[in-house]
Amino acid sequence: MVVTRDDGVRTTTTRELERRYGADYLVFSCDDPVRVDEALTARGDPPVALLLGGLGDADPDGLRVLRGLHGTHPEAMAVALVRWGAWETARPIFEAITVGQLDRWLYVPRGRADEEFHHAVTEVLDEWSSRQGGGFEAVRIIGDRWDPHAQHLRDHLTRNRIPLGFHEAGSPTGRELLAELGLEQPRLPVVVVRFRPEQIVLQAPSDLQMADAFGLFDPLDPTVVHDVAVVGAGPAGLGASVYAASEGLSVLQVECEAVGGQAGTSSLIRNYLGFPTGVSGSRLAASAYQQAWAFGTSFSFMRTAQALTSEDGLHRLTLSDGASVLARTVVVAAGASWRRIGVPELEAFTGRGVFYGAAVSEAPAMRGRQVFVVGAGNSAGQAAVHLSRYADRVHLLVRRESLVETMSEYLIRELVALPNVEVRYRVQVVGGRGADVLERVVLRDLDTGAETEEPGMLFVMIGSEPRTGWLAGVLARDPWGFLLTGAALTAGDVDPAWPLHRPPALLETSTPGVFAAGDVRQGSVKRVASAVGEGALAVTLVHAYLAAGRDRPGR
Ligand SMILES: Cc1cc2nc3c(=O)[nH]c(=O)nc-3n(C[C@H](O)[C@H](O)[C@H](O)COP(=O)(O)OP(=O)(O)OC[C@H]3O[C@@H](n4cnc5c(N)ncnc54)[C@H](O)[C@@H]3O)c2cc1C
Repeated sequence: MVVTRDDGVRTTTTRELERRYGADYLVFSCDDPVRVDEALTARGDPPVALLLGGLGDADPDGLRVLRGLHGTHPEAMAVALVRWGAWETARPIFEAITVGQLDRWLYVPRGRADEEFHHAVTEVLDEWSSRQGGGFEAVRIIGDRWDPHAQHLRDHLTRNRIPLGFHEAGSPTGRELLAELGLEQPRLPVVVVRFRPEQIVLQAPSDLQMADAFGLFDPLDPTVVHDVAVVGAGPAGLGASVYAASEGLSVLQVECEAVGGQAGTSSLIRNYLGFPTGVSGSRLAASAYQQAWAFGTSFSFMRTAQALTSEDGLHRLTLSDGASVLARTVVVAAGASWRRIGVPELEAFTGRGVFYGAAVSEAPAMRGRQVFVVGAGNSAGQAAVHLSRYADRVHLLVRRESLVETMSEYLIRELVALPNVEVRYRVQVVGGRGADVLERVVLRDLDTGAETEEPGMLFVMIGSEPRTGWLAGVLARDPWGFLLTGAALTAGDVDPAWPLHRPPALLETSTPGVFAAGDVRQGSVKRVASAVGEGALAVTLVHAYLAAGRDRPGR
C-alpha cells in the first residue's frame, strides 16, 4: 500500500512495485490517508505486508499517518518513503524508528529498475514473510508445542534460518501428517527433512542425528593439521574465520548450536556498522557464515569442543562425538550462555513456558497471551519489544529501581512508547505454577515482600556466563570463568601460569598459540562489533605467532 499526496512519488513508486512484485502481491495506492481502509475493504481486506507512506512537503503529517495505519495493520511493515536529498526528514525518521513507530525508511525509486530501491523492498518483504511463517517447509516438525525437545529443535533451526514448519501432533494436520508417514505411536518430536534427494524421517532425534540427516557430518581427519581451529561460530568466531580464511590460512570452525551465537537470537541489531535501519541477528549470522564458507572455512556443526590439549606447539580439540581436530593455533570464541533463574519450580518448566533467550522463535506462539520478561539489560529490552508485537501484554520485571544504568537509552524510550509494555521495578519472580506448561508466575514486591500470582509465560534474560567449563585447569580463567588474556596473565598469580619469557600477545591465553576473542574473554565489551573486531585481531596475532615459529617453553 503506497500512501502519499505527492502525485509523482505515488505514480513512480506504484509503477515500480507493480512491475517487480505484481505477480505475488496486490499493489494499491491512495492519495488520501483517510480513504486507505475503504480502498482495502473494496479489495476484500487482504493482509497488508508493506505500508509505504510519503514524508515530505506534500505529506508533512506522513509519520502520523503511518502510525495510524500501522495501528490498524500491526503486522505490516511500516516504511517511510523519502526523496533523495530530503535531509530534514532524517531526525524525525530516526526518532520514529527509535520508539518503534516505524520499521524502515526508503528512498523513492529514481526511475526504472532502481535496484537499490528493489533490494531494500525485498529485504523488508523478507522480514515480513519471516515474521508470518507458514511458507516453504524445508524441515517439518510434528510434536508438542511445549515439549522442551521440540522447542530446542525449533530454536536451533530458526536461528540457522532453515525454513521450518511446526505442527502440533494432536492437531488435525499433525495427525494427518503422522498418518501419511505411517507413524501410529511415534516418539515425538518427529522431524521430516524434506530438502534432501530422499525425504528423511527422524523420531526424537539427537543433535548429531540431525547433523547427519542434514549432510553436515563429514568425518574429520584427525591427522590433518589446520592453521587455525576456531571454537564457536558467533560473531567473534565468524570474524576470526572470515579473516583467517581470506588471508590464506586453513581454518576449521566448530559450532555446537547455531551460527550467530547470541547475536543470532537477537530480533534486530541496530548498532552494527553499515546497517542504518538495523539487521536481524540471524540474517547477519547467515551472511557471515556464507562469507566464511566462500573463503574456504571448513565447518563442523552440532559438535561441542570438550577438551583442549597442547603438545610441542600443536593443539588438539576433542569433540563430543569423539572426533578430534589438530591445529597450530586455536581461537576460543565460545561466548556466553544465559544465566539460569535458579528457581527449581521454574526450571522444571524450561521450554514449556519458561524460555531462555528464545524470544525470536517463540514469539509467534505468544499471540493473545500475557508474558513476563525478566532482566534489565539490552537483551531483555529487545525481547520485550519483539514480544510486544505478538503478546497481548508484556511485563518487563526489573529488580532495581531504574533501567538507566543497564539499558541503552533508545530502548528505554521504545519500551515506554509501546502501549502494551509495562516496566515493573523492584519485582522478582519467585515461583510458578501450571500443569503441563507454566500457567502462572509468582511475583514478589521487593519493597513490601508481598507475593502475587499472575497468569503468563516467562522469558528469562538475566545476563550470561562464559562457556569455559571445559577449559577449567587448562586455560587461566578469572573467578567468573572468563578467559584471561594478554597483560592480565602476568599481572599477578595466575593458574596455569604463562610459561614463556616473551610477554603474551594481546588476546593470547595462558597457552601460547591459543587465543580468545569475544564475550568469552575477561574484559570484553559484549557487543557484536567488538566481538567481530576481536576475531579479526586474533587472526593478526595468529599470523605473528605462526611467522615466529613454534614456541618452546623457556623461550
Ligand atoms: C538477545 C541478545 C541481543 C543482543 N543485541 C545486541 C545488539 O543489539 N548489539 C550488540 O552489539 N550486541 C548485542 N548483543 C550482544 C552480542 O550478541 C554478543 O556480544 C556477541 O554475540 C558475542 O559474540 P561471541 O562470538 O563472542 O559469542 P557468542 O555470540 O556467545 O557465540 C559463541 C558461540 O560459540 C558456540 N560454542 C560455545 N561453546 C562451544 C564449544 N565448546 N564447542 C563448540 N561451540 C561452542 C556457541 O554455541 C555460540 O554459537 C545481544 C545479545 C543477546 C543475547
